[in-house]
Amino acid sequence: MGKKKTLPILFGLLMIFSAFSGCFGDDFLQSPDKKGIPGGLTLACLSSDEYTSMVVEIDYESGYMPEQSSVDLLKTRLQEVCDKPNGIDVLLTETNFEHSGSWTADDVREKSWEHKSNDPQTSSTLYWQAIFPSGTYSDGGVLGVAVDASTVAIFKETVEDAEGPIFNRPSAEEIENSVLVHEFGHLLGLVNLVYKSPVDHEDKDHPGHSNNEDSVMYWAVESADIGTIITGQLPDEFDNDDLNDLSGILSGEIPVWDQLWVP
Ligand SMILES: [Zn+2]
Repeated sequence: MGKKKTLPILFGLLMIFSAFSGCFGDDFLQSPDKKGIPGGLTLACLSSDEYTSMVVEIDYESGYMPEQSSVDLLKTRLQEVCDKPNGIDVLLTETNFEHSGSWTADDVREKSWEHKSNDPQTSSTLYWQAIFPSGTYSDGGVLGVAVDASTVAIFKETVEDAEGPIFNRPSAEEIENSVLVHEFGHLLGLVNLVYKSPVDHEDKDHPGHSNNEDSVMYWAVESADIGTIITGQLPDEFDNDDLNDLSGILSGEIPVWDQLWVP
């Protein structure tokens, strides 16, 4: 009855004051087996062998509803990579998480699972979830986190604070668009979370992230410094290396591990 240690990974510990080393290196947290790690349902999403439809459940606190543009963009990006012949639906639900104070990764997991409408793997439907809670992450300056195989959180207050103060800097809406896709990119296993890319595009100083500023998986995308690091157009799509990784995983050319479902 040994306590099985899972590979605990936490994304998004990017600090306001550029302490970027902490992305998910120094705060290891447990994710119970059943919940998996980010990337644990990559094959379930990419393949239509078992899961022919998908529901993206977005639970938001009153006043924290995501922008319609974020919802639309996320759906488009998932449709581009996940084969779901019976469709990808978005289910928006206003929710009271009854949580005060800041959020840890454990809080996000606990409250998200309390409010999931279904188990992530229900019949032929795959359920992924984003929560938009009030409040901020316990480590300041984090815009979003991916905490297990089916769950992400977006911290809208921090997203709004990250809006560039100077003309031409990205707006809060643009940041939210990119951060939401970025966190779901982690659920897709990007970059190198559950596989090793044949191409060297993981940023050396920011594990799990892209070194290409034109990829939505670029490391700065979930940082509150985003408005000063990227002054022009924010990336909001997966780049060719990301897409090639995903198609290699689906075809079997790239070995993949820690999967909650395999064909
Ligand atoms: Zn990230």
